[in-house]
Amino acid sequence: MAEGLSQAAALLRQASHAVVFTGAGISVESGIPPFRGPGGLWSRVDPSFIEIGRFLADPEGSWRRIKEIFYDFFGPVEAGRGGRARPNAAHFGIAALEAAGRVQAVITQNIDNLHQEAGSREVIEFHGNSRRLLCLECGRREEVRPERLAELPPYCPCGGLLKPDFIFFGEGIPELALKRSYQEASKADLFLIVGSSGEVQPACQIPVLAKSRGAKLVEINLRESNFTPISDVFLQGPATEIVGELVNKLGIK
Ligand code: NAD
Repeated sequence: MAEGLSQAAALLRQASHAVVFTGAGISVESGIPPFRGPGGLWSRVDPSFIEIGRFLADPEGSWRRIKEIFYDFFGPVEAGRGGRARPNAAHFGIAALEAAGRVQAVITQNIDNLHQEAGSREVIEFHGNSRRLLCLECGRREEVRPERLAELPPYCPCGGLLKPDFIFFGEGIPELALKRSYQEASKADLFLIVGSSGEVQPACQIPVLAKSRGAKLVEINLRESNFTPISDVFLQGPATEIVGELVNKLGIK
C-alpha cells in the first residue's frame, strides 16, 4: 500500500491534466448507501419508482418514494432542514487537490451534490443532480426547497410536473455532461477513479477512453472493480482514508 500511495502521489505530481472520476462509493462514508453490492439500496428497495415511464404514469406514487429516499433520508435539501448527508474527507480532499492545481476536473456519477458542497468547482454531473428540480413542461430548473415538496407531486408555477434533475432509468445522459466528459477523457494524462464499480453504462466507458488515449489510471476502492485490471495503481481501502493520505503525501493542507 505504501508503495502504491507513493506511485499515485508521483503520478499526480507529474500530471498536467488530472481528472477525478467518482461513483457512489465516495459518498458511502457520508451515510449514503450505494445502489448495488453489499448494503446496496436495491437489495432493500424496488427501483421501479425511478423508471421514467412509471414516474409519468404515477407521479404521486413515485414522488412519495423519491422524497423519502432521496430527500428526507440522504438528499441534501437545505442545511439543517431535512437531508443529513454532508461531504466527507474524500470530497474535501478532492476539492483541496483542485484548489492546489493538482486536479483539473471531477466527473461524478453521483447526484448528491457533495463534491460541490466540499468546494470542488469544475464538476461534471454525469447523471444530473438531486438538488435541482426540472419542469417537464417549460424546462425551467429550480433548487429544491422543503416547501416545494410539502405537497406531492410538486408542480412548476407554469403548471408542469416537476421531476428531480437526475436521470431516471430509461433516460439518456445529459448531452453537455457527456460531451465534456469525453473532452476530459481525451485531454487527461491521469484519471483518479474513486468508489466506482465500473458496471454502470455508459459512465464506465469514460475511464476506459482516457486509458486508450494514454492516461494513467489510479483507482481507490474497497474491493477490486471492473477498472482494476486496467488500472496502473490500485489503492484498496476506504475513500476517506486513502484520499486523505494522498493529499498529505502531496503536502496539501
Ligand atoms: P457504483 O459503480 O457507484 O459502485 C460503488 C463502488 O463503491 C463499489 O465498487 C464499492 O466497492 C465501492 N465502495 C463502497 N464503499 C466504499 C468506500 N467507503 N470507499 C471506496 N469505495 C467504496 O455503483 P452503484 O452503487 O450501483 O451506483 C449506480 C449509479 O448510481 C452510479 O452512477 C452511482 O454513482 C449512482 N448512485 C449515486 C449515489 C449518490 O449520489 N451518492 C448513490 C447511489 C448510486
